[in-house]
Amino acid sequence: MSSFKTLDDLGDITGKIALVRVDLNLPMKDGSATDVSRVEAVKPTILELAEKGAKVLLLAHYGRPKGQRFSTMSTSFVQGDVEKVLDKEIMFIPEVMGPVVEQSIGILGNGDIGLLDNVRFWPGEEANDPEFARGMAAHGDFYVNDAFSAAHRAHATTEGLAHHLPAYAGRAMEAELKALDAALGNPEAPVAAVVGGAKVSTKLDVLTNLVGKVQHLIIGGGMANTFLAAKGVDVGKSLCEHELTDTANRIIDEAAHAGCTVHLPYDVVVAKEFAANPASLRTCNVHEVADDEMILDVGPLATEALADVLKTCRTLVWNGPMGAFETEPFDTATVALARTAAALTQDGSLISVAGGGDTVAALAHAGVKDEFTFVSTAGGAFLEWMEGKPLPGVAALTA
Ligand code: ADP
Ligand code: MG
Repeated sequence: MSSFKTLDDLGDITGKIALVRVDLNLPMKDGSATDVSRVEAVKPTILELAEKGAKVLLLAHYGRPKGQRFSTMSTSFVQGDVEKVLDKEIMFIPEVMGPVVEQSIGILGNGDIGLLDNVRFWPGEEANDPEFARGMAAHGDFYVNDAFSAAHRAHATTEGLAHHLPAYAGRAMEAELKALDAALGNPEAPVAAVVGGAKVSTKLDVLTNLVGKVQHLIIGGGMANTFLAAKGVDVGKSLCEHELTDTANRIIDEAAHAGCTVHLPYDVVVAKEFAANPASLRTCNVHEVADDEMILDVGPLATEALADVLKTCRTLVWNGPMGAFETEPFDTATVALARTAAALTQDGSLISVAGGGDTVAALAHAGVKDEFTFVSTAGGAFLEWMEGKPLPGVAALTA
């Protein structure tokens, strides 16, 4: 991994002005956040800068105002939640540059925190307009990016500012980059990738990137059905992208050339209707799925075999559940494999990194979210990283 500067590289920052990009796009209901984990993630960076005596100006987006001011999308709506998590009062500043920002900086004492308004109110943000970035940069002494979740966007506050000010990765960004590097950048072999979820079409680039990088590719979830169909298996009524069977075969071929073993389930859990504990529930070999049945989870024999594969590996990267885990008992394989990975991680034999909206929910459901080496909540940025794409926000820090 090319190197980037962290908060450890800051000298004396007493009285200096830090422009800090964070993710405060909180899920809200009735005026307050239903989940403040994004604030908790950036809390160490904000408090560290404040404790070192900097004046901290928070930059964040909220919703999709598309370059216009909408009173309903002001970051002032999350001010109260941010204050609660930080256990500190912060000053809301209804601009991102200009005299109002200048005056506010004058009022802030060393170690105080200001929250600027929604950066996406200005078209220059998403256009990554250098003039817009320069206007913001004029107020700051240095820039800290602690929003990995926005690093796949080349916007003024996620990328542009790094060209105008000395740039540093915040603590959350630093932890994320280290974990991702340990999983796919410079991993300890053998490496296993678990890729599940609903559809092959949403993860084609992920699969294509992984076959060249990992020794074991474990395919589960709905996308396994497309691979099974490509191998001539009749998957009945299962979710399956029949038009992608050629693509699936190409990925299988590429894996064979690269020395990557592709693991597909050989037994499966099926039902005639998609409901919790349906009367038609049964487990069978993949070759015994009836025309009116659908595959909703990986079977117990394959799950056992996959656990054995993980036991031989040193590194695991996971995206996508193995079955329709929201509905019982189709969470069984996902929960079992997650617990195996967690136990191996706790034993010190496996480095485990997972990400993806539903994957995080599935690991929480299995009760092992805190037992993986690292769980990314970054969504789109995590997937683009799994696709092997350079993330502009990260590239700007490492330039
Ligand atoms: P992530 O959000 O972690 O990237 P995805 O969105 O790709 O994951 O996939 C998660 C969804 O895939 C879940 O809603 C789950 O119910 C669904 N899924 C998994 N296996 C199956 C299956 N066999 N049939 C239908 N849906 C499935
Ligand atoms: Mg999802």
